[in-house]
Amino acid sequence: MFDYRSIATEGAARTGIFTTPHGDVSTPAFMPVGTVGTVKGLITEEVEALGAQVVLANTYHLYLRPGHELVRDLGGLHRFMRWDGPILTDSGGYQVFSLADIREVEDDGVIFRSHIDGSKHTFTPESVMEIERALGADIIMAFDECPPGGATRDQAQEANRRTLSWLERCRRRFDELEHETDVPKQALFPVLQGNVFDDLRLEHARQFQDLGEWRGFGIGGLSVGEAKEDMWRVLEALHTALPEDRPRYLMGVGYPDDLLEAVARGCDLFDCVAPTRNARHGTVWTSEDGQVNLKAARFRDDTRPVDPGCDCYTCSRYDRAYLRHLVVANEWLSVRLLSIHNLRFLVRLAEQSRQRIEAGTFDGWRRDWLDRYRRAEDVGSDQR
Ligand SMILES: [Zn+2]
Repeated sequence: MFDYRSIATEGAARTGIFTTPHGDVSTPAFMPVGTVGTVKGLITEEVEALGAQVVLANTYHLYLRPGHELVRDLGGLHRFMRWDGPILTDSGGYQVFSLADIREVEDDGVIFRSHIDGSKHTFTPESVMEIERALGADIIMAFDECPPGGATRDQAQEANRRTLSWLERCRRRFDELEHETDVPKQALFPVLQGNVFDDLRLEHARQFQDLGEWRGFGIGGLSVGEAKEDMWRVLEALHTALPEDRPRYLMGVGYPDDLLEAVARGCDLFDCVAPTRNARHGTVWTSEDGQVNLKAARFRDDTRPVDPGCDCYTCSRYDRAYLRHLVVANEWLSVRLLSIHNLRFLVRLAEQSRQRIEAGTFDGWRRDWLDRYRRAEDVGSDQR
């Protein structure tokens, strides 16, 4: 269980299979985000029809509402949300640092106030392991401190130190819980920090591996406002520092172009709230026109699908003119239909990457795809 088997590589890009108790995940893979136990607006069958292999849920949100113990008593998250495939839960660290109202960060853990009702809570590495155990996801993330984008070297170093000591405590509690009976089989992924500082990133990767074996690695603290070149450079540095036979999850990435760039640098798993969030604003991705907003007047009588090359339900059935009408009229259906398209767009991009890497034609395809997409983005920005 939790083995990563490589199928093919091309440069740093890799395709492989990661086995979990709830099924195999072919990588690279995009994971739709089901924040509170739902991929917003979609029923399970629709998420399956996207070709999604694994979904993500947020520990912070489920802990606050409905509560991890209730989810456990109702049979665990798979049963609760009626998703039989693999699930990954994050540690709540990112939300605590970005969403919660007031917080005190101490070496023991983080004290925060709920963004829902202001109630006071404490997350420690131990409690987060217990919460993630109760939720019962297949892949669980260690509790980490994610410094904000633009953090200084000192701040990044301090967050690294704390994340490492929290990781040791997560591991200890995780191992204890593993020995209890009737518990779900889970893989604990550590979360690498270090902001844009290559040496801190490499040091963290080394320190993590000194602690023992891991089933996979999370790469955190990127896509938080740093320059793209910094993100690519960090990923290139990490590529050789991480073991080849473990999956790498680039947390919170990404947009279509970022996903392809990261696949080219050896990342395997991705998640991002942009597909559904953009859908709520009428924004869609297309391979020929880049990212566009359907509210634009030029789509009023456009009878083409959102993306003529896309095989999703929305593109096979509706045209831009109708979808624009729904967006402008603020109809619920627009959010569902555009979410289906945007999610399928990323899931399919990962699928195409797998096929291309296996065929040994990934790099040329990626370059052409990115050229076309970015050229369209430039043209599109004049029209938006
Ligand atoms: Zn589509």
